[in-house]
Amino acid sequence: YMIILHIISNLVSITRTKLTPWKNTSLQYKTLPLEIATKLFLDTTSIKTASSDFGKLVQEIPTAVFHPSTVSDISRLIKSSYTSSSPFKIAARGRGHSVGGQAMAKNGVVVEMSSLINVGIKVCRSESLGFYCDVGGEQLWIDVLRTTLEHGLAPVSWTDYLYLSVGGTLSNAGISGQAFLHGPQISNVLEMDVITGKGDFMTCSKSMNSDLFYGVLGGLGQFGIITRARIVLQKAPTRVKWVRMIYDDFATFTKDQEHLISLNHGPSYVEGSLIMKKSPANNWRSSFFSVHDEAKVNLLASECGIVYSLEVVKYYDEFGIQTIDEELDEMFKGLNFKSGFIFKKDVTFVDFLNRVRSEELKLQSKGLWDVHHPWLNLFIPKSSILKFNQRVFVDIIQKENKSAGPFLVYPMNRKRWDYRMSSVISEEDEDVFYTVGLLHAARNVEDLKMIENQNKKILELCDEIGIKIKQYLPRYNETKEEWMKHFGAKWSLFEERKAKYDPKMILSPGQKIFNF
Ligand code: FAD
Repeated sequence: YMIILHIISNLVSITRTKLTPWKNTSLQYKTLPLEIATKLFLDTTSIKTASSDFGKLVQEIPTAVFHPSTVSDISRLIKSSYTSSSPFKIAARGRGHSVGGQAMAKNGVVVEMSSLINVGIKVCRSESLGFYCDVGGEQLWIDVLRTTLEHGLAPVSWTDYLYLSVGGTLSNAGISGQAFLHGPQISNVLEMDVITGKGDFMTCSKSMNSDLFYGVLGGLGQFGIITRARIVLQKAPTRVKWVRMIYDDFATFTKDQEHLISLNHGPSYVEGSLIMKKSPANNWRSSFFSVHDEAKVNLLASECGIVYSLEVVKYYDEFGIQTIDEELDEMFKGLNFKSGFIFKKDVTFVDFLNRVRSEELKLQSKGLWDVHHPWLNLFIPKSSILKFNQRVFVDIIQKENKSAGPFLVYPMNRKRWDYRMSSVISEEDEDVFYTVGLLHAARNVEDLKMIENQNKKILELCDEIGIKIKQYLPRYNETKEEWMKHFGAKWSLFEERKAKYDPKMILSPGQKIFNF
């Protein structure tokens, strides 16, 4: 009775929403097994959510949204498509925090990962692996943090914002200020369960089905849906010393950043950002400064036009209370920030890691979170970063003054990335490369157009003056050649893996790598 009711309510919602009727699409709804069909939703709310994301730049309407209860449900759905004479596209949706429709599936099925009742978050220890946790691909990093902390443990590598899904960040890389030390999140995964584009359930690691393991990490959802990841844990600190130093000279700022990430027993986290008239010291990424300090820094920024904030964190716990300040002094010896412009805070580990959430809630309450986000994230060779500062930060971002950002810039150590994984970083053979995040927000279509044009101009300029950038969270949607250039030497392997694990090109079509 419930099943019939559900199907009727779905059919009613189709007529209400005036969606493309399923019979005219490649989704042969009638031929799906009943246990799959009853978990497909076509109501307005489900379709609307699945056809939008954080970017608000793209809208792709799926035929249906799938709410799996179990991992087998996902496997059955993919198998139904794979064995069908007209396969339909399928995209896993973590939380839709992509900015360019990457988790969408036009005329296909979006799998709403959050409805999965899966492995949850289980903390374990083994002789050979030490502490680790088994985590469902649908889980949010904030929940991983909360659960592991109950055991006095935590993952080592994070993103700035924790309301992202494990499967979503592992499909990209997962970077933040800890990446210079521990590598991105993908460098801290021991094993995964994946459902391939053929619907096969496979467990993979460096020693088991390693080709799939390396392919999926940073693989933009192209080879399978991650349903479990085994993540490295370490003893968690309880508190952090959180410091910001201001520089009016970019070369000195980057020299000090590079020095800090080269230290043994140095910081736990290093990032950096630009401060300008339109992009003040406090922003949604963290309102670190007191009212008084912010006014002082903003004044300097308006006098100089642009200043740079170096952000450093050192973790500690009850055993380090006596020595942490000395450690900081030792670490900061020889740094050349502007005299009188060092600011310190002491907060809990959780408050630091979850710093973006409170700012998100403030923006949400003002209706400023749900706006367009034409973000541009880049990896830049170390040898080009000074040129990038002059030609892009100063000559374009500062002078054109079009957005409040925030604008991030910080270095990472290349050796912490595993070349065998699908993720793409700077191809230059240098020990360090930089990540730049132009995290724009636009409240209206005119601003959006202006910023998108600026992004295009930056990419064209880099090409013209020989700055070999790579996009992080890449957005290419015009030609396959753009993707071939993006992956460079990794392209043929990427294509081979696609043919092996998703030969009918079913998965994550919103990335627009194999289907335009
Ligand atoms: P979605 O957007 O839902 O999906 C992303 C892609 O992964 C899609 O192609 C989707 O089909 C695929 N996918 C989703 N789940 C799975 C799965 N289980 N298996 C296989 N494929 C899957 N990134 C950083 O690295 N560092 C940051 O500091 C950072 N900060 C951010 C702050 C904010 C406010 C936002 C909105 C994003 C930030 N991001 C950051 C980007 C973030 O990593 C990406 O948006 C990422 O895609 C995670 O979002 P999601 O879990 O919602 O994934």
